[in-house]
Amino acid sequence: MGSGLLAGLGIAVSEVEAPVGLHELKLAPARVPVPSALAEICAGDDYARASHALGKSYSDVVRGFRGRFEHPPDFVAFPRGAHDVERVLEWCSHEDVAAIPYGGGTSVVGGVSPDVAPSYNGAISVDLRALDRVLEVDLLSRSARIQAGALGPGLEAQLAEHSLTLRHFPQSFEFSTLGGWIATRAAGHFATVWTHIEDFVESISAITPAGAWESRRLPGSGAGVSPDRMLAGSEGTLGLITEAWVRVQPRPSHRRTAGVRFEGFLGGAECVRAISQSGLSPANCRLLDAGEAQMTMAGDGSSALLVLGFESSDHPVDGPMARALEICAEHGGAVAEPGGPAGSDAVSSWREAFLGAPYVRDALVALGVLAETFETAITWERFQAFHERVTAAAEEAVLRQGGATGRVFCRFTHVYPDGPAPYFTVLAPARRGEEVEQWAAIKQAVSDAIITEGGTITHHHAVGRDHRPWYDRQRPQPFAEALRAAKVALDPRGIMNPGVLIDPLP
Ligand SMILES: Cc1cc2nc3c(=O)[nH]c(=O)nc-3n(C[C@H](O)[C@H](O)[C@H](O)COP(=O)(O)OP(=O)(O)OC[C@H]3O[C@@H](n4cnc5c(N)ncnc54)[C@H](O)[C@@H]3O)c2cc1C
Repeated sequence: MGSGLLAGLGIAVSEVEAPVGLHELKLAPARVPVPSALAEICAGDDYARASHALGKSYSDVVRGFRGRFEHPPDFVAFPRGAHDVERVLEWCSHEDVAAIPYGGGTSVVGGVSPDVAPSYNGAISVDLRALDRVLEVDLLSRSARIQAGALGPGLEAQLAEHSLTLRHFPQSFEFSTLGGWIATRAAGHFATVWTHIEDFVESISAITPAGAWESRRLPGSGAGVSPDRMLAGSEGTLGLITEAWVRVQPRPSHRRTAGVRFEGFLGGAECVRAISQSGLSPANCRLLDAGEAQMTMAGDGSSALLVLGFESSDHPVDGPMARALEICAEHGGAVAEPGGPAGSDAVSSWREAFLGAPYVRDALVALGVLAETFETAITWERFQAFHERVTAAAEEAVLRQGGATGRVFCRFTHVYPDGPAPYFTVLAPARRGEEVEQWAAIKQAVSDAIITEGGTITHHHAVGRDHRPWYDRQRPQPFAEALRAAKVALDPRGIMNPGVLIDPLP
């Protein structure tokens, strides 16, 4: 997204600002020194501390840009295996030092910031990226045992040696890890059926302060509450995931993509509902409103765009694509792209913009543009009113905080037979030096609207520290008590990522 395109969208950009350099940083002194028993796997230099102090939310990027590393970890541990993880957690429990699991650090919800209560003697990050191997592949069951610190490209390259893929591609794929995906219940970019990482999980190994946790490898099980589902989404509060068996697949060899234009977003949404309830299960079914299509250079701002895709490793997908296009035509859609393999068209423009998004975030801050996203889900019968009210709340907040040139866009990231996952993007001119306050005010207004209108505070970005107030309103109170009790059992000293999801008992 270049400054020219932003200007085309009517979003004012400012003079390019340079970030504060590492040599200019003044970090608070560490509260605890690296213990000699762990010295060979720990680093306490400024670079290690600063690079683990923040995630990748807009407010994190602004803070990093300005050199505001307010809660750096006292040091960073880089365990080489489960035994090292045990040693680190034992030390933390003994010393009352908080342990913040760190995968790729792409959390956009304050999940990796060591911002803990002063009652702790300190806080350290536990960076799992040395655990990056695919350890075993079971070709018969089509599963693989993969270490939690493996980044997307690394694990895919290792699986490719067996002509397999995990087929889980969040937008942050290049920078995030398997353990982070499981801990946050991340969603890949495939739009239907297996959307979240837990759908691919066969079993999980973790180290908790109370001991090792390993579930059985099973294709399915009805044996009570699932241990894997309990760790999925635990956001580092119950233990450290060290590895998992995951379901893998042959790489798809049959692919069809198409772009379909609709006059309005709501008309397109009706069509998406019909497709999602048809049993066709497209791999991609993203509806972009006119502004979002324009922003991704996949449209001129006059119509909504549905990006459709089917793929299979086993059979041609022309039949399902043809039927989906029939449904689009029945709903007034005009096929913009013919449904061939990906080419230089609106679908490709959207894809390029989608894949490039992780790289423009720092540039937006430098250009003085505030950017935030809100991802949620809602059932179809409430969708229209929900979309209207959340959009109105976002537009009002943007107007108040950023003036008349701010913009609000919406797309569907995932769709289910019973409802879509709408994703709102907010762009506004930033007030230099006040971005964090501006961001917080917009976050508050839009998140309030999402919860008031019955949506979820997150479909896949997780809860972290930033979504806590709304997550607390969303979850049933007895469930919160049960979660707290589980945390006491697994983490009696309350050292695991305190403040995320649940507050430890005093
Ligand atoms: C540009 C961009 C695009 C994004 N797109 C998507 C997307 O398409 N879909 C999506 O779901 N998310 C997306 N995200 C959010 C983020 O990438 C996900 O939440 C991701 O799963 C985090 O993985 P990570 O390895 O970076 O984890 P981290 O950010 O390091 O950690 C996230 C949380 O998990 C905990 N954690 C990490 N590793 C472990 C472990 N091994 N054991 C226990 N706890 C652990 C951390 O303590 C923290 O609470 C995006 C983020 C960015 C910046």
